[in-house]
Amino acid sequence: MNNEQLWQAVLGELELLISKANFTTWFKSTFIISSDNETVLVATPNAFTKNWLEKKYSDQLLRALKNITSDGVKKINFTVETKKPIAGKQMVDAVAPRLNSQTSATGENTDKQDINKFGLNPKYTFENFIVGKGNELAHAAARAVAQKLGQVYNPLFIYGGVGLGKTHLVQAVGNEIIKNNPKLRILYINSERFTNDYVQAIKSGQTESFKKQYRTVDVLLIDDIHFMAGKEQTQEEFFHTFNALHQNNKQIILSSDRPPKAIPDVEQRLISRFEWGMTADVSSPDFETRIAILQAKCQEKSLDLSAEIISYLAENVQNNVRELEGALNRIIGVHELNKSVPTLESTKQVLQALTASSPKGNLTPKKIIQAVSSYFDVSIENIVGACRRKELVLPRQIVMYLMREEINASYPSIGQELGGRDHTTAIHACNKIIDVLTRDEKMKNDISMIKQRLYHA
Ligand code: ADP
Ligand code: MG
Repeated sequence: MNNEQLWQAVLGELELLISKANFTTWFKSTFIISSDNETVLVATPNAFTKNWLEKKYSDQLLRALKNITSDGVKKINFTVETKKPIAGKQMVDAVAPRLNSQTSATGENTDKQDINKFGLNPKYTFENFIVGKGNELAHAAARAVAQKLGQVYNPLFIYGGVGLGKTHLVQAVGNEIIKNNPKLRILYINSERFTNDYVQAIKSGQTESFKKQYRTVDVLLIDDIHFMAGKEQTQEEFFHTFNALHQNNKQIILSSDRPPKAIPDVEQRLISRFEWGMTADVSSPDFETRIAILQAKCQEKSLDLSAEIISYLAENVQNNVRELEGALNRIIGVHELNKSVPTLESTKQVLQALTASSPKGNLTPKKIIQAVSSYFDVSIENIVGACRRKELVLPRQIVMYLMREEINASYPSIGQELGGRDHTTAIHACNKIIDVLTRDEKMKNDISMIKQRLYHA
């Protein structure tokens, strides 16, 4: 077996172990430079990829190498090398089809395609969804559902803050189904559209055809179900739609910005149905996932950013993927306008301009603590302090809840901001407030007043 064949076999194994998007991101333009009996030297296109492969994938790669060479190889080393040896060309071409199918699934031409007749945008696929700690459960559940419609989790309920990939995942299920079974009837709709259509149907006396339209699908995907809050008639209709589909084992997938119990003003019978199947959350991507997402998006957009810039972005844009993408798009815009190459300096400027213009950009843990302490008229020292008096415990829990909801802070960092408390305390506080919010008008009011102060002060 020559080096090309060996590397191809290794990549073949690895491809099965990691997501396609991660695979493409990290293994594009890699090849074996040399191998003696014990050591394999692998070329990577840049220092960043080299470090990443060393840190993250060397074990898996070595295992695959050992499998394939029956334990002959003992060690794998990486180096930066872009020039492929002549003999290596064949190998690069051999990997190319895999990578190309990826690019066409995510590339520009698909971006411009219209939403299809099912309401789906073909650009949202599993192939270009980067899996990390914050979304692995939701991703696995979505994949399982796409494989076995109506049989594993029904409904699948995905929840989490804005820009964390809910719509992407929900639509990826739809797109996957079309790929495997084009005959199925799929319907993707946002719950606001559902509501408007229903109101329209009532006005024009078309409720029968509305019912038929929704109750005869094989797969119903409803995004942002929390918009149904307070819309009683729509909820009533949706309740019957849900039952009709569920009874016939038709798959239902829902997304929301919060868990079922925490959606205010939704009938209990609906909430309990939302919980029948599987609920899975998406939370903010960790640093490593942000790096992988940035790498993948750069490839999609044919943008060549230095490792320094990518790290800087990943460190400074933490809240969600939409903001990461926004930052990248802005960098591309500025760079096309000035016909310049993005530098660390220009990146910093772009980010500064972005955060200044976003209402949440200015929000920090400190500001949340300040706003809550002034609202309840207690001192900041007391809020972050150790005292467990009742009039302090509640404001403290609200601070934790707002940090989580408004700036997607991690539980350990929330504990840290509040005088070094444990992350389990933060989790407990957030759950408690979410729970109280479902039944306590005063709490709802308090939170919304504090938010007003935060955003419109
Ligand atoms: P949400 O519906 O939760 O508000 P979206 O699904 O609209 O978020 O995601 C915002 C953007 O970020 C989309 O362009 C989406 O493709 C992208 N995105 C989110 N999560 C990921 C991920 N894990 N990998 C790749 N792209 C992602
Ligand atoms: Mg969405």
